[in-house]
Amino acid sequence: MTQICHVCNEQLEYDGQISLDRFYLRALGLVERVGGYNRLGADGKQFVDAVTWQYYRQFPQEYGRRYEGIVSIGAVLQDSQIDRMANKHRLLKITESPITEKYLGLLVHRACFDGNGCHNVDLSRIKTAEQALDWLFHLGEKAWFHPLGFIMILEELFPESRGKAQSFYVGGD
Ligand SMILES: [Zn+2]
Repeated sequence: MTQICHVCNEQLEYDGQISLDRFYLRALGLVERVGGYNRLGADGKQFVDAVTWQYYRQFPQEYGRRYEGIVSIGAVLQDSQIDRMANKHRLLKITESPITEKYLGLLVHRACFDGNGCHNVDLSRIKTAEQALDWLFHLGEKAWFHPLGFIMILEELFPESRGKAQSFYVGGD
């Protein structure tokens, strides 16, 4: 497995997990407790950035930039760079209109995020495509489940499926 932890950007091994929860609450609590994004330590910044970037990625209808007309590839690349460096401004946008009915997914090392109070799926229990499908069906019955975010994470875990499931879910081209 060569997939990357959403928080530390280091390689994941099977000791990681997929955590599902309302992460904007934790990120907001972190920012408030430390008195603002600029005063967060490196670990706090990393977590807040990871959370905001994943919200923008997993909830594109709510937070993503919508392009109209012809857009240069440079503009798209620049946007994706900015999105990767998600900051306090973007977190505030999320907390001003939070998604309360659906959970965000984070792919993380245990050491990077404790997952306490979250719904967690251990990576050791999701090693094959069959197991991934089982989880998709199991979680699909929960009202808080957000299929697009989970499918995006499955595509990170199973790169050979990349683009297929997601384009199916969002309607594709
Ligand atoms: Zn990590």
